[in-house]
Amino acid sequence: MSHTASPANRQPANELAGHIVLFAPLTGPAVLLADVPDPVFSGGMFGDGIAVDPLEGKLVAPCDGVITHIARTGHAVTIVTAEGAEVLLHIGIDTVALNGKGFAPMIESGAQVRAGDVLIEFDQDIIARAAPSLVSVIAIANSEAFEIVERTSNAGKLKAGETQLLVLRARTAAAAQAAREASAVTDEARRQVTLTHAGGLHARPAARVREAARGFDARVEVRYAGRKAPVESVVGLLGLGAGEGTTVEIVGLGAQAAAAVEAVANELTREAHGENEEKPARQSSPAPQAAGSAGIGAVSNATMLVPNTVAGVCAAPGVAVGKLVRWDDAEIVPPQQADGTPASESRRLDKAIAAVDAELNTTVRDASQRGAVGAAGIFTVHRVLLEDPTLVDAARDLISLGKSAGFAWREAIRSQIAILSNVDDALLAERAADLRDISKRVLRALGYANTAARALPDEAVLAADEFTPSDLASLDRTRVTALVMARGGATSHAAIIARQLGLPALVAMGDALHRIAEESQVIVDATNGRLEYAPSPRDVERARNECRRLAGVRETNRRASHQVAATRDGHGVEVASNIATLDDAKTAVDNGADAIGLLRTELLFIHRQSAPSVDEHRQSYQAIVDALAGRTAIIRTLDVGADKEVDYLTLPPEPNPALGLRGIRLAQVRPDLLDDQLRGLLAVQPVNAVRILLPMVTDAGELVRVRRRIDELAREARRSAPVEVGVMIEVPSAALLADQLAQHADFLSIGTNDLTQYTLAMDRCQPELAAQADGLHPAVLRLVDATVRGARKHGKWVGVCGALAGDPLAVPLLVGLGVTELSVDPVSVPAIKARVRNLDYQQCRQRAQDALTLDSAQAVRTASRQHWPLD
Ligand code: PEP
Ligand code: MG
Repeated sequence: MSHTASPANRQPANELAGHIVLFAPLTGPAVLLADVPDPVFSGGMFGDGIAVDPLEGKLVAPCDGVITHIARTGHAVTIVTAEGAEVLLHIGIDTVALNGKGFAPMIESGAQVRAGDVLIEFDQDIIARAAPSLVSVIAIANSEAFEIVERTSNAGKLKAGETQLLVLRARTAAAAQAAREASAVTDEARRQVTLTHAGGLHARPAARVREAARGFDARVEVRYAGRKAPVESVVGLLGLGAGEGTTVEIVGLGAQAAAAVEAVANELTREAHGENEEKPARQSSPAPQAAGSAGIGAVSNATMLVPNTVAGVCAAPGVAVGKLVRWDDAEIVPPQQADGTPASESRRLDKAIAAVDAELNTTVRDASQRGAVGAAGIFTVHRVLLEDPTLVDAARDLISLGKSAGFAWREAIRSQIAILSNVDDALLAERAADLRDISKRVLRALGYANTAARALPDEAVLAADEFTPSDLASLDRTRVTALVMARGGATSHAAIIARQLGLPALVAMGDALHRIAEESQVIVDATNGRLEYAPSPRDVERARNECRRLAGVRETNRRASHQVAATRDGHGVEVASNIATLDDAKTAVDNGADAIGLLRTELLFIHRQSAPSVDEHRQSYQAIVDALAGRTAIIRTLDVGADKEVDYLTLPPEPNPALGLRGIRLAQVRPDLLDDQLRGLLAVQPVNAVRILLPMVTDAGELVRVRRRIDELAREARRSAPVEVGVMIEVPSAALLADQLAQHADFLSIGTNDLTQYTLAMDRCQPELAAQADGLHPAVLRLVDATVRGARKHGKWVGVCGALAGDPLAVPLLVGLGVTELSVDPVSVPAIKARVRNLDYQQCRQRAQDALTLDSAQAVRTASRQHWPLD
């Protein structure tokens, strides 16, 4: 902390008898509160006050006092004077969105400061460029207890730490009470709502509820089954155990109670979407299942088990052989009593939390850049939990009783875990794993470690009650062959990460797992939902043979992956890749992709706070095209809405987001976003490397309008070479009107994920419908057929970029229907090319027509498996 000498020409702070003097905390002209360009402040919701338009990047203490809060993002601080006045200092408008960028706090929470001490240094340029305004507010947060009796007479140019800014006086007890009552009595609001979120009030909706209530001058709590929790506590909200379909009461108190309650109610009744961190793999990143597999999330039908086997639920498919190693952390046991004072322990805790927060921030950013949206979402929730007031306050209470920071933190989390474990809701109980995870992380950041040896043998099959995401983030992937868990579900975060790591994983194996001796040899057949321990040498041999066979097949496919694929009778099929990042592009090239069939551009910029500029678009696409070594890329314009949310664009709540403002329709309300992207796309070199793909087109009118705009922008960029424009066929209307679309498009690309969703009226994000929402349904296949026929009338080609293209049972049928490009996950390219090479095109054509006459997806699957058995 830096102490500046008190300027000689002013009175010492806080010493006008009965009054509190506040000096200017910033240098610059004063601004009336009413003129602050943010209704939250100008409406006085944070209390009465004044603002300054700062000319220097230094915020100093306006008075002596204690720092009671400093925002994690470093843009705001609260000082409480000895008399109890709470002075909020907030730099700029909407600066929380900068997430700390440009701010350097010079003090810590709990610090005693003198008037003139530097509190925060900030970079005016960074903030001016990223925030709506630099105008900074000084507000008396407890204006009901303190009133402003004098404001500066020198409004033109305040000098930080020198010019007297405000004089406060404590209201009389009666006046304070009257002020309190005025807001309390006039504003109380209540509302009952029934939870519509799949899974109820779980982590994501709880985090969003907290956000929805932010900024209102009201205290809001949610009540359910005799329990209540303040909205700012995600942990408290989870602990209510309010599941899907239950009715909760929202109670608000304060000047803006009604608006706050309304905002919370809207959030709680909003349809859940974009919550992939709590759901099994989506079709958008499919894990095609082997024939006869139990499938992700399916309970094995092998519960009638042969001896020495334990059944589980498949969280990630595959077969592995190895030694069982118990991963469960030997408990980290911090000392109960503190060495230092409560203040110093409290600071240690703050520091540890801040360190973990920074670590998580990096993890989220890396995951987003990799396009690992699921992992990014998980760790974002952890960041919210880290600053949860229920946890932090409970820990501080224990610290004030003389406990160590580590002990206090662990106990605070333990008691919340106990509450969550009592909740009769599997999804909520799973969040206990997230709490355990942040408990461990903070304890490690406090310097405590468990000494349990982490050296793993080769071929380790790791067993735990339940893995936490941070366990998996630091895993030695070269030694681990499978993950097995006593608890957890296919929707748990660990399961999602296991799938991303490509490790076979079983969950929900029960206590039977713990009865297997450490270091036992085991065979994990995750695909079929079972683990065999102490297997006979013959079983081990058989499993190893299967692993070897699968690895051999993979290797053969890999070696041939750089050659083009054609059927046995010489019909060529392009096998391209779906990508979301530059890394994916490299993986696609390594795996032999002939081209990029779909770049999902919305994932490139998903966790940004502002829309990408023309140049950012251009640079990202150019980097990808450069990595493709001459291959072409089909780049889809932004497909935002429904299951795809981006941080920089808050779409208005819609009753049916999947049927709302999404895909190309967004251009109706935000043409600027599309224009910027098109300009970036048209600037990529060489000009013929890029084809533009438009998502969610419903009819030719939409296509013609966008095409016209593309032509205008191409002319503006002085580009003479024509640009190829294709249309996604993802809604039945587009498939039925394919001939009209093909007249104006250069190619059609079928998005079977959405086409299946809209044809069968089954939400693609609904885990319970995952098995039925099958793209091999004859209705979907008939639309594929209609699309190809429509395109052929105008000599245009048709590709498939939905998950169906990577499903080995679908490949022969799609090829037989006349699809000439299959765009699949980068790692699936070799296997899909191999599959194509084993086909006879004439046979595929005949059998595909037969499949159109079948009456269910199941019948189509069975027929396909009979004609074209899987490896
Ligand atoms: C599709 O809908 O099939 C598709 C490829 O697009 P996305 O999965 O990105 O919606
Ligand atoms: Mg789609």
